[in-house]
Amino acid sequence: MTDLSRRQILQAAGAAVMPAGLSGAASQPSESLRIAPFRIDVTPPQGHGCCGGWIRPIEAVDDTQEAIGYVLLGAGKPVVVCAVDWTGLLNRTHLLWRTAMADAAGTTPDRAAVQCVHQHNAPFACLDTQRLIDEQGDLPNTMLPEFFADCLQRLQVAIREAITKAVPVTHIASGSGTVREVASNRRINLDQDGRIISMRGSSCRDEALREMTEGLIDPQLRTVAFCNGEQKIVCCHYYSVHPMSYYGDGRASSDFPGLARKRRQQEFPGTTQIYFTGAAGNIAAGKYNDGSPEMRQILADRIYAGMALADKALTPRPVESVDWKTAEILPAARAVPAAETLAEQISDRTRSTVGRNRPAFELAWKQRVESGLPIVLSSLNINDICMLHLPAESFIEYQLRAQQIGGDRFVAVAAYGDGGPWYIPVRPAWPQGGYEVSVAFSAETVDDELTAGIRRLLAVN
Ligand SMILES: [Zn+2]
Repeated sequence: MTDLSRRQILQAAGAAVMPAGLSGAASQPSESLRIAPFRIDVTPPQGHGCCGGWIRPIEAVDDTQEAIGYVLLGAGKPVVVCAVDWTGLLNRTHLLWRTAMADAAGTTPDRAAVQCVHQHNAPFACLDTQRLIDEQGDLPNTMLPEFFADCLQRLQVAIREAITKAVPVTHIASGSGTVREVASNRRINLDQDGRIISMRGSSCRDEALREMTEGLIDPQLRTVAFCNGEQKIVCCHYYSVHPMSYYGDGRASSDFPGLARKRRQQEFPGTTQIYFTGAAGNIAAGKYNDGSPEMRQILADRIYAGMALADKALTPRPVESVDWKTAEILPAARAVPAAETLAEQISDRTRSTVGRNRPAFELAWKQRVESGLPIVLSSLNINDICMLHLPAESFIEYQLRAQQIGGDRFVAVAAYGDGGPWYIPVRPAWPQGGYEVSVAFSAETVDDELTAGIRRLLAVN
């Protein structure tokens, strides 16, 4: 088994090339299905940039950020799935994380998925963007390459160690529970012409905006449990909402979904609890959250209640079939602003930090599209349960479409995979305008491509 060395990662950060020769070696016996949960601490060090560098950097830690995942062995080459308490993993940096996991598990990157939970007091990881920022010399960091390399090395150690303790998976269970008063649609305030007037964000002090209806959401928290007989080994929870109660105070936290997950972990230490943020590009807690500090725990308790309800609904059934599918898409970058404009914005010292770092993210996306590196969508299908891995800030409509396409199957959606394109609105959102559309890095045709990709993943063989 080859190592993804610190040198290779730093080289990738500096020269923006993928390390070569990372193919895994270990093959697993296929007669029995086994699962190997793993976790590492990915809390950034003091001074690390948060959310792209335009909010206060890390000064203290309220609670740790983690990367938690599992390796599934015995159904062809190993499959690796992981959730990370970061804002995002983008472009080649997303592929680097998947490659590191795949290498440690003895499989290929197309059989590895990593999704972010999307907390904002956390790294927004794109080493290509970081390189563009570094060229300027005066901009705050967004992902420190040394820290990223350190995380990947510890991740690989944790995965190799976990595989030596893999546990049989004989049964799979799914269940859902309604979460009350957490998710609300951000794009609720439109004028007579159907244009967005203002956004209801993660927290909202505007009473009139909070009074408005919840809007289109998915109120269900879905849980999939991998079981060894009656014993739940890994519980994966899926719920669609931006995960912030408040942020921008320089204090690292896993925020309210992380606190719910951690409470569950503490109460059921024999089961690894993983939380995935679903398609939540246009979903946040704003209707129910005024941003006061006490709301963090209140929102955590509401998520926890949904987890407990979903858990009650779990009925383990024998594993009959396991299937991993992938679908590649490469949506076009939007034409405007042009690359030259973005380059000018990045180096214009009269602009704000966000006015310079955000164009760096968009330029990195444009360059990535030009390089031909696709976005890989994936799904893990066990019996009639589909765990779908979607990219970036996909709108809730994609999740609802996936469930509709899935028919009678239990479809659990994790979004915030490859974050390169930023927001992924649906077609009708473009003429409405609003924040999400203004920072959607793809052309409108992304809707067709993503929807077609979802259809391919959910096609019945
Ligand atoms: Zn977001």
